[in-house]
Amino acid sequence: MMRSMSERIPEALQKKLSERLSLYEDLGIRLFYKDRGAAHAQAAVMPIAVSFEAPAAQKIYFEDAALPKTVRKPELSRAAQSAPRAMPSQVAPKIDPLLVPAGPSLFETFDKVPGDTLLKIRTDLGECTRCKLHKTRNTIVFGDGNPNAQLVFVGEGPGHDEDMQGLPFVGRAGKLLTQMIEAMGLQRKDVYICNVVKCRPPENRAPEKDEVAECSPFLLRQIDAIAPKVIVCLGAIAAQTLLQTARGISQFRGQWLEFRGRKLMATYHPAYLLRNPSAKGEVWKDLQKVMAVLGIEARKGKSAEAGKSS
Ligand code: URA
Repeated sequence: MMRSMSERIPEALQKKLSERLSLYEDLGIRLFYKDRGAAHAQAAVMPIAVSFEAPAAQKIYFEDAALPKTVRKPELSRAAQSAPRAMPSQVAPKIDPLLVPAGPSLFETFDKVPGDTLLKIRTDLGECTRCKLHKTRNTIVFGDGNPNAQLVFVGEGPGHDEDMQGLPFVGRAGKLLTQMIEAMGLQRKDVYICNVVKCRPPENRAPEKDEVAECSPFLLRQIDAIAPKVIVCLGAIAAQTLLQTARGISQFRGQWLEFRGRKLMATYHPAYLLRNPSAKGEVWKDLQKVMAVLGIEARKGKSAEAGKSS
């Protein structure tokens, strides 16, 4: 006789499954998991662009499937590569919001480190020499803020001021980020701020693939250890790294996406806003979506105005 689903699935997995499904509800992708077979059948006979009026996150998932990977995989043990997934696909749909990688993705196979803490991660990072950025850095900029934050901002990499002070986002772009955080009714100490790479790339160039590949496992551990409700990626490098896509950020900015079971929103980098102040309105809209999810209200007055238009 057929056993019911609750008899076949261990309790811990059922709990995970139910958390995952409620996340999908929150992300507005209920139809996908409820009628997955039908969606697949339809996709097989009609071009995606005209057949599938899915929420934006799903659209990117399908359209992006052919894009090349942007991030090199770290060296993974065979055991890690063949390890069973926590959520087998026959039990729940696995939604990679932006890309279906050819092999195990950088982050899918990166298991949680049990009992991980920011202190342990910082200790493991040590006086890092894993990539060439160590040769020109002054200070490692690990991250700063509330270790239990509900909201984590991820930037690209330290600039000159950050490299000198050892703290993220303390230069001009950082001051704007601080204003944005305050406009959200929060303070810097309420959130956690970190970067994809922990050492300043020379001349503030974008971090290179090998640098990102060496450093991003530490970012992942930071995110897992903090366990925020929402991750905000500031700029293309952060978003492309976590989502493993080569797509331009403007194609998915402002949309709710998923990263390892957490909500992720990509928005423009504050440095971009310094060059393009007219884009502040767009970013403010994105931050308002984040505030709605976190249940916070904008601070009235000067800072809120700064977040919108100054
Ligand atoms: N830009 C970033 O991406 N990160 C910083 O910490 C500072 C500027």
